[in-house]
Amino acid sequence: MKKRLCLLLLGLLLGEGLPAQPTAFAPLDLPAPNAYRTASGEPGPAYWQQRVDYHIRVTLDTTTHRITGTETITYTNNAPVALQELWLQLDQNLFAAGSLGDALIEPGSRWRGAFKGGGFQITRVEVVQNGRRYAPHYLIDDTRMRVDLDEPLPARGGQLQLEIDFSFIVPAYGADRMGRLNVKQGTVYEIAQWYPRLYVFDDVNGWNVAPYLGQGEFYLEYGNFEVEITVPRNFIVVATGELRNPEEVLTATQRERLAQARRSDEPVHIIRPEEVGRPEMRPAGEGPLTWRFHAENVRDFAWAASQAFIWDAASWQNVLVMSVYPQEGLGTPEQPGWEQSTRYVRHSIAYYSQQWYPYPYPVAINVAGIVGGMEYPMIVFCSVRARGQALFGVTDHEFGHIWFPMMVGNDERRYAWMDEGFNTFINYYSNQAFYGQEARRLERLQPDYIARRMQDSLVHQPIMTYPDQIRPQALGFVAYRKPGFGLRLLREYVLGPERFDRAFRAYIRRWAFKHPQPADFFRTIENVAGEDLDWFWRGWFYSTDLLDQAIDSVQVASGQTRLYLHNRQGLVFPVVVEATYPDGRKARYRFPVELWATGARQAIEIPGEAVQVVLDPDSLLPDIDRANNIWPVHTSTE
Ligand SMILES: [Zn+2]
Repeated sequence: MKKRLCLLLLGLLLGEGLPAQPTAFAPLDLPAPNAYRTASGEPGPAYWQQRVDYHIRVTLDTTTHRITGTETITYTNNAPVALQELWLQLDQNLFAAGSLGDALIEPGSRWRGAFKGGGFQITRVEVVQNGRRYAPHYLIDDTRMRVDLDEPLPARGGQLQLEIDFSFIVPAYGADRMGRLNVKQGTVYEIAQWYPRLYVFDDVNGWNVAPYLGQGEFYLEYGNFEVEITVPRNFIVVATGELRNPEEVLTATQRERLAQARRSDEPVHIIRPEEVGRPEMRPAGEGPLTWRFHAENVRDFAWAASQAFIWDAASWQNVLVMSVYPQEGLGTPEQPGWEQSTRYVRHSIAYYSQQWYPYPYPVAINVAGIVGGMEYPMIVFCSVRARGQALFGVTDHEFGHIWFPMMVGNDERRYAWMDEGFNTFINYYSNQAFYGQEARRLERLQPDYIARRMQDSLVHQPIMTYPDQIRPQALGFVAYRKPGFGLRLLREYVLGPERFDRAFRAYIRRWAFKHPQPADFFRTIENVAGEDLDWFWRGWFYSTDLLDQAIDSVQVASGQTRLYLHNRQGLVFPVVVEATYPDGRKARYRFPVELWATGARQAIEIPGEAVQVVLDPDSLLPDIDRANNIWPVHTSTE
């Protein structure tokens, strides 16, 4: 039915030498598999990771915006080596005037936030090890802190407690990941990167001690959290985790409404708009209240507090889905606002659960505030100003992050594409499921947009570039849309949904609550989908090559159509040809990517005498010149 001309004949026909792009097919130079990470992309028999559990008690002083806390960190060393020191992340120090990030961040950047008085004050560091308590020597360098242990923490299960007292002033604007917003009825605090926490120690890099510079996000260990948050009595607190003491911090009416919400698919108000600020909405008594939360198997903990929150909730399966927002978040029938948020969250967690992997946590919360869009386990922060499809889009994106990186815990500081790109990819289908084909935000994950952007020299950085080295204007393309669209291509053009989906689900299942590296992803997809994709990873992830499949010429004779094809740029892809015959009949022929293994010019034959042929008839490829995809060439007559 379809065949390639033999190489010798081809060489004669084209009158030129052979290989043009065999390097596109060379094996990808991945790290050698070992006992920790297998050749098939799974955690190996000796895979280990550290465990870090936190017990934190903090008080929010709403007059000074100061958070003061004490934490006990239980660190379990599961590594096969003993540790002489521990490295901690002091993320708040990004906001100390003159920090490394402050020096690098351009004025007006989304990641700004340094101010006079910003950063952590660390007032006590103590270690409890082998029943002995001591004050260790420690060093603070910008957002990094090294704690020197008096004696090594033994390999394979050694455990110690680290106690730290800390405080900081909540920045008004904290790199668009935390901050506070003044609204008519009070202040919305969104609190994250707020406690000293461990850097990841892993089998690939040992200590992952890259500083927090603003653009690059986080790489964090898993563990359980017990968190006690003390706030003024008129404040409502929501957080990563389940509320442990509702009888102490909620009124009987609110507890009754929450019970109702747990049985309701539709949102139920816990605090109605007109009830915000009323004394009877808070438990009777004097003085602050302490809210206690418990979270299991999470890599981070965030919270929000305000006296201005409207609060609604519904349930999805056993998950309590909630939204909190000030009245500024309310929309109109034409431009729906935060009153729709809980419905959006329900859609996202239901859709991703059914399509990829079950939502693993007991609560799912959307908070309206100053942060434009930021993800944390069980809780996300989205802009109070977002409306309509933009509010759906940002909510859906931030909740998609529960899968990447909250569940599949990649190293965001090195490989933003493993969470932002994968998330952008799953958002594409979630958005379609919610709005249908017309969804406005789908636009940017389309081939023509991608092809146009790939030619823009501003974004000529490979996906594999570490995020702190990506030009700020290029981040959205390099870390989100190009990898997101790449997975679309892999799913829809290269492998087909059946093969791709099984492989992608396997990746999530294998690496849920673990620390995958890029090679683990590449190998899992190749092994489960059953395809050597080194050409794809190299071209799409490691290079900035472009794609241009072209028809140079066509010969029609003796019941055959012969196409002389030219792959004019560095990227290689399989070829799909659609031929139209004199009777109007159309037929499609697919040629594997290996067509290009021996050179960039190839001749192929398809049966019948075609009157028209088109490459990539569904326009799925980011081909930079579609005009040369069609024969005969139409010339306009005017
Ligand atoms: Zn994101």
